[in-house]
Amino acid sequence: MDATARPLSVAVVGSGPSGFYAAGALFERADLDVRLDMFDRLATPWGLVRFGVAPDHEKIKSVSSVYSKIGEHQSYRFFGNIEVGRHITGKELAERYDVVIYAVGTEGDRKLGIPGEDLAGSIAAVQFVGWYNGHPDYADLNFDLSSERAVVVGNGNVALDVARILCSPYEQLAKTDIADHALEALRHSRITEVLVVGRRGPAQAAFTTPELKELPKFTDSGVDVAPEQVAEEPGEDTLPRAVKRNLGVLRDYASGETELGERHISLRFQRSPVELRGNGKVEQIVLGHNELRTGEDGRVSAHDTGERETVQTGLVLRAVGYQGVPIEGLPFDPRRGIIPNTRGRVDGAERTYVVGWIKRGPTGVIGTNKKDSVETVNQLVEDLESGTLRRHERDGTLDVESWLAGRQPHLVTAEAWQRIDDAERTAGEPHGRPRVKICDLEDLLDVALNRSTSAKA
Ligand code: NAP
Repeated sequence: MDATARPLSVAVVGSGPSGFYAAGALFERADLDVRLDMFDRLATPWGLVRFGVAPDHEKIKSVSSVYSKIGEHQSYRFFGNIEVGRHITGKELAERYDVVIYAVGTEGDRKLGIPGEDLAGSIAAVQFVGWYNGHPDYADLNFDLSSERAVVVGNGNVALDVARILCSPYEQLAKTDIADHALEALRHSRITEVLVVGRRGPAQAAFTTPELKELPKFTDSGVDVAPEQVAEEPGEDTLPRAVKRNLGVLRDYASGETELGERHISLRFQRSPVELRGNGKVEQIVLGHNELRTGEDGRVSAHDTGERETVQTGLVLRAVGYQGVPIEGLPFDPRRGIIPNTRGRVDGAERTYVVGWIKRGPTGVIGTNKKDSVETVNQLVEDLESGTLRRHERDGTLDVESWLAGRQPHLVTAEAWQRIDDAERTAGEPHGRPRVKICDLEDLLDVALNRSTSAKA
């Protein structure tokens, strides 16, 4: 049979923003007839929008309605609770589908590589974020919130997210879809200061201005910035506009016009963690003071001056970026933590494409993934037209449902996910919350599969 006489069969591995934007871009092509199956190892779709975006960023999270709409397409199917690499393999997918698109994000975290990093109380932001967002892998973690100060290492938006959540009043958080276990733990938190440290200066911080500017709105407090660290420097006119805007916000904070609340965030620059100390758990962080030097290429880098500062803390969160993890059978660039690709086509692998963070690294905001996925889909179509992408002779997807059910009897389909979505939203309604998240896999499956508790046993 002529392969072009049937729809192009596409498997998308990962159901986060980039996966959905790839699906949307494929469905939008008038010149393509596509049948698309989306896989996720978790029982719920939306990836980082459900498990990464902070619960108090409701507006950013509302993009999930776009994904729901894409999920209504007649040629779309969702298969959750099935893991590629465990229940099925990437090779099997490639044998069945004309195209496999990996949209798996970057699940690993980066380490600081300093003594004491493995002490209890030293954690990756990815764990803390997963915990407060009800990610089943992190729902059972416990964090010691009994000391007065938490330290967040890193100057990106994730650092601001975790600092804001640690500083927000209970009443604010209680209106969000934060996981109930986190809401309860944070209610009893004794933390009064969250110290956010950046290794370079304020002009090199990776925060985006809206995220920097909104801190007082969510935390009911001003932000502590040392005026001398944000003093005007000659030559600022030439700085990029985004940097100037950040400096403006930081200077407003440093002016002290908004009073610091009982709980507040402090931002300090040119500080690198050099050691974590404590007896069985973190009690102190030693920070090295840095000076900044500009290289010939214009890049500003931090250099240790030898000066040290010891700060008391019981909780250190490193928010120094995410890291992609290799996928069996595909090439991997360990330095960049990505799958090497050319405009989304995986180098040296047939019929295989990538989108999102595993394609370009953990950069940009949710919307950045739309352009990124469109680029991959355009490459895919070009490859189809040029014959670089050769479709299978036979349609290998006819028995997909029974094949998958044989590997994972507790599959979560789009319909089953809808039951979870409805149940969570309904539970949130009486409390004025967007949803109450179900965080335990078995509980999710009870709802998704209409299982009674007795059937589970
Ligand atoms: P990021 O923006 O890349 O920031 C990482 C930070 O970690 C940088 O300040 C970096 O400093 C620092 N860092 C790296 N290694 C370090 C080390 N060894 N010691 C000390 N500091 C170190 O990463 P992210 O915060 O994880 O965010 C990932 C992406 O998600 C970003 O694009 C971000 O904008 C996005 N995001 C957006 C939102 C939002 O829109 N609200 C929320 C969360 C995340 P250097 O610059 O010196 O390397």
